Amino acid sequence: MLPGFIDAHAHLAMLGELLLSLDLSKARTFDEIVARVAAQAPRDEWVVGRGWDLPEFPSHERLRQDVPVWLWRKDAHSGLANAKALALAGIREGTPDPPGGRIDARTGMLYETATELVERVAPPLDARTCVRRAEEEALRLGVTCVHDACVTDAGTLDGLRLRVHPMLWRPDQRPIPGARAMKLFMDGSLGSGTAWMLDGRGVARLAAADVRACVESGAQVCVHAIGTRAVREALEGLAGAEGRHRIEHAQHIDLDDIPRFRGVIASMQPSHGIADERMMRERLSERERRGSYAFRALLEAGARLAFGSDAPVETIDPRWTYECARRQGLTDDETLRAMTTDAAYAAFMERDVGMIRPGMRADFAVCAGEWPSEVVMTIVDGQVVAG
Ligand SMILES: [Zn+2]
Repeated sequence: MLPGFIDAHAHLAMLGELLLSLDLSKARTFDEIVARVAAQAPRDEWVVGRGWDLPEFPSHERLRQDVPVWLWRKDAHSGLANAKALALAGIREGTPDPPGGRIDARTGMLYETATELVERVAPPLDARTCVRRAEEEALRLGVTCVHDACVTDAGTLDGLRLRVHPMLWRPDQRPIPGARAMKLFMDGSLGSGTAWMLDGRGVARLAAADVRACVESGAQVCVHAIGTRAVREALEGLAGAEGRHRIEHAQHIDLDDIPRFRGVIASMQPSHGIADERMMRERLSERERRGSYAFRALLEAGARLAFGSDAPVETIDPRWTYECARRQGLTDDETLRAMTTDAAYAAFMERDVGMIRPGMRADFAVCAGEWPSEVVMTIVDGQVVAG
């Protein structure tokens, strides 16, 4: 029996959406995606799919064109729209890029904030239904607490048995009065080509001063920063600040910036480190690679690691996070600590959960055999919630 797992970075509503819509995460080629989309029965006259991951960005011509089609890339930082979806979103050749986004009207690829143009017209799934579906999946796998990395409506989380630490987010990325924790996006992702790097590559969505303004509002600030420049800006915005501020992903760090992580929470996803191996060889310099997924160096610098899955980008199964961290050179203890105790700390919950100890809440994952084996029962607050 282990303490219930705490996933320090996941997206409940999006995980539910993936589980409830066309799941393209297993598709190996664009041909396969074209065929799956063609075979899909539209819902509310649209086909919405999620999870594709291809070595190159596709173009929409070969997709079915009888209904609007919108296909989120697996990291949800870009997506592919067909001609009907583009037209409904008001995008045509020559439509200017929105701030913080990029439009490729010819191929139908939309990046970062440009995805909102389609999202505004695509039929929504009921958020509560999605969150419930995701909760079921988390509990089944032994996850008893999730830090939800992008919550726009906290009401959708009411009545869950799963513990949730919500990072509130609003599209204008200004301070949110009364927020306990809030999310900011400094840049995009490596896979979508929008990670903001020191040489200027990528997409900048904020600067250090914007982070600072949120820190001063009193909230715990959780800054999504993937590229070297984004991480540097985030560190600058958090420099000297009191409180348990976090850098989400902290994926590619300039070597000079690693010591600046002392006292900062690095909320990282070991599974991305494995998934990105090839892309890092192709897209990053030797120096950039040395500061990528720098778990060991961060620990030595005095950072605190909190591990998550970034589900639905990767599976929410804690066994996969664990295995990926071990493959990247962390010990059993270091890995489990980042998945339980230190993840609890990152959500101000370390007095209640993250350890099996008298006086703490009874949140457990019961395994079939020695860890990492299958979770056969999950307990939250002394109640069996799965298995
Ligand atoms: Zn995320």
